[in-house]
Amino acid sequence: MSQLNTCLGSCFCGEVQFAVAGQPVAMGYCHCDSCRHWSAGPVNAFTLWQPQALSVTRGVASIGSYNKTARSHRKWCVKCGGHLFTDHPTLGVVDVYASLLPQLAFEPGVHVNYQEAVLLIHDGRTKLKDMPAEMGGSGIEVQE
Ligand SMILES: [Zn+2]
Ligand SMILES: [Zn+2]
Repeated sequence: MSQLNTCLGSCFCGEVQFAVAGQPVAMGYCHCDSCRHWSAGPVNAFTLWQPQALSVTRGVASIGSYNKTARSHRKWCVKCGGHLFTDHPTLGVVDVYASLLPQLAFEPGVHVNYQEAVLLIHDGRTKLKDMPAEMGGSGIEVQE
């Protein structure tokens, strides 16, 4: 196992290409209303990285950005509309959607914002009511 393995990703059309290097800070699933509304899916599989671990290798001019709140700056490809990642500047991490990193061994550690879940997932992994305490949440665990 290499410590500095690199995983490649791209948007839906391939205009925007990027790479992440090293290991993610955390991986899991977010069930919050914002993630569901933005993704148009029932849950968001996230991988959080230090911002410097992510490099855009192609199509940087085609990246759109929208922030409904200061916490989350959501990025997509303006040519195909495919989602790319979400900057969390106040947390100092960037969420690169697990679905865009086929080479990454996705090992979800936690479900966050499970109180908002519409798709219950019985995988035996930790379910947090909102966010971990170290990220400003209650850190309270809830049942599946
Ligand atoms: Zn695209
Ligand atoms: Zn979320």
